[in-house]
Amino acid sequence: MESETLAKLMEGNRRYVEGLTSQKDLKGKREETKTGQHPLATVICCSDSRVVPEYIFDTNLGEIFTIANAGNIVSDIDIGSAEYGVGHLHTPLLIVMGHEKCGAVTAAYDGHDESKITKIVKKIAPCVNKVKKGGERTSEIEQAVVANVKAVMRKLKKSPIVKKALDEDRVKIIGMKYYFDGRIEVISK
Ligand SMILES: [Zn+2]
Repeated sequence: MESETLAKLMEGNRRYVEGLTSQKDLKGKREETKTGQHPLATVICCSDSRVVPEYIFDTNLGEIFTIANAGNIVSDIDIGSAEYGVGHLHTPLLIVMGHEKCGAVTAAYDGHDESKITKIVKKIAPCVNKVKKGGERTSEIEQAVVANVKAVMRKLKKSPIVKKALDEDRVKIIGMKYYFDGRIEVISK
């Protein structure tokens, strides 16, 4: 189930990359999903307006349970949303999607300190510290994007609901990185 769903999403991504996304009957789908939702994936992604999982995977209404914030990080509330997606909506996939040139990761790299944005920066800071070795800035930021996705995956695995679903093989956690040319890279399964 998990691998079939992943294949379906990656096929949708190929259509998105090629600019061949499918025609959607949103009105019909809206009617069809009125009584309930059975999404394919719970996706934690960045709020970046260019990172839209429904488009990226060429999916329809009712197919992606999205949790978005700047930097695709997780607080208790986001973990709670993921637990709902996995434990109650039974999505076979739990995806953590970072993306290239992420503004939140860049802010963490630069040590940006401003109002509540600092809270986001502090969450990403340990991942930045792991990769910041005086190398090239843009390359270290991209490394931090990947480290951040992996750190979020580890946090999700600590949730008892997610862990149980993993143990029972009902869900797969997948780390991904999105590129602005439309491509998705699976960075960790
Ligand atoms: Zn971002």
